[in-house]
Amino acid sequence: MSRTSSSELNPAQRRRAELASNLAEVRGRIAAACAAAGRDAGEVTLIAITKTKPASDVMLLTELGVTDFGENRDDEAAPKAAACTGLPITWHFVGQLQSRKASSVASYADVVHSVDRPRLVRALGAAARAAGRELTCLVQVSLDGDPERGGVAPGGVTQLAQAVAAEPGLRLGGVMAMAPLGLPPADAFAPLSSCSAAVRSVSASAAIVSAGMSGDLEPAISAGATHVRIGTALLGGREPPVR
Ligand SMILES: *Cc1c(COP(=O)(O)O)cnc(C)c1O
Repeated sequence: MSRTSSSELNPAQRRRAELASNLAEVRGRIAAACAAAGRDAGEVTLIAITKTKPASDVMLLTELGVTDFGENRDDEAAPKAAACTGLPITWHFVGQLQSRKASSVASYADVVHSVDRPRLVRALGAAARAAGRELTCLVQVSLDGDPERGGVAPGGVTQLAQAVAAEPGLRLGGVMAMAPLGLPPADAFAPLSSCSAAVRSVSASAAIVSAGMSGDLEPAISAGATHVRIGTALLGGREPPVR
């Protein structure tokens, strides 16, 4: 076999090469951030956020060794997860979630990152029990008090964590946060460690800290993130959502 130049690759092969190169770059950033923070790179799980991207990208990334995928809208996530049935994937739901979508999300998601109110806890618990599944739930913390982006205020974390832990069908997994807008990234995630401690005081094994996106994975890892949610840096830019 002669070597093929990239111009000889078909579109699927080109996309695979592009994803492989992006993945190597993201893994390199994670490793460097862990080294700078004195942490082991094995402590950080990469979640590929595949919103607006086709199921074929999910399949290519699984071939490249990615195991964790995230989506933020049920309408898009449900068919994509169905198209990937049988692949060794942990599905994460990371978007704001309406209670009436709970049973759909509970049918394919393994981890819900955006649990921010008691009503949603009850809806997810009922849905998980009906589906005969256990859902890992993260308490989403609002670090900037912006209700548009979801999340409970840091002072409400313990109470919501207790509600999750008490709900049959749900497993308390940890905390999730988005960087507050308009704060230097190095300071943005500072309150996360006390929020994580509050959740671990409810359940010692609830050690997930989901924080960090394409633009701020380094400060998130330095603040203790165990799961980073990476879209753009891995899959390329997205069209703005149609509303
Ligand atoms: C889209 C999204 C991400 C990924 O954002 P990028 O900046 O593209 O890496 C992470 N978390 C949530 C909740 C998202 O909606």
